[in-house]
Amino acid sequence: MTNNFKLLSVIVILLFSVSLLAQDAKIVGSKASKKFHYADCTAAKKIQKNNLIEFKSAADAQAQGYTACKICKPDQPKMTKEAKDAKKKADNEAKAEKKKVDKETKKKADAEAKAEKKKVDKETKKKADAAAKVEKKKADAAAKVEKKKADAAAKAEKAKVKAADAKKKLDDTKTDLSNTIKK
Ligand SMILES: [Zn+2]
Repeated sequence: MTNNFKLLSVIVILLFSVSLLAQDAKIVGSKASKKFHYADCTAAKKIQKNNLIEFKSAADAQAQGYTACKICKPDQPKMTKEAKDAKKKADNEAKAEKKKVDKETKKKADAEAKAEKKKVDKETKKKADAAAKVEKKKADAAAKVEKKKADAAAKAEKAKVKAADAKKKLDDTKTDLSNTIKK
């Protein structure tokens, strides 16, 4: 292999690479929309053949009054596969982080709601207990009055019986006395 041949090989490979890069970064535009794209943009693929125009560069397109597509962003350096993968990874990580934060936020909110409910329940129970206590006190007082009445009635009844007994005793004594006199 001569040195010349080696040099030629290098040049061929270099040219091939550059042509590939150029192919990859080809800028096209639509005469209808006045927007320019990277040739592999989904929007670029929809451009009608009679509206399709090619540019040497993004600057060339802009010089001719075309604006950059917002999807493929041809006014910015074309992303390599590595850059795309890195962006995807970063996006996924951000997504996972957001999910985690959302989960924690929800957990916190749930805990706060639970604590609030507990507090409200406690207050409600306290109120109900107090009301029940008042009610019981009332019932107890009413029962006491009722018992007092019943006791008084019983006492009166007892006094009546006692009076009746005394009267009977007196009558008996009278009868005895009259019997004695008769004898
Ligand atoms: Zn585009």
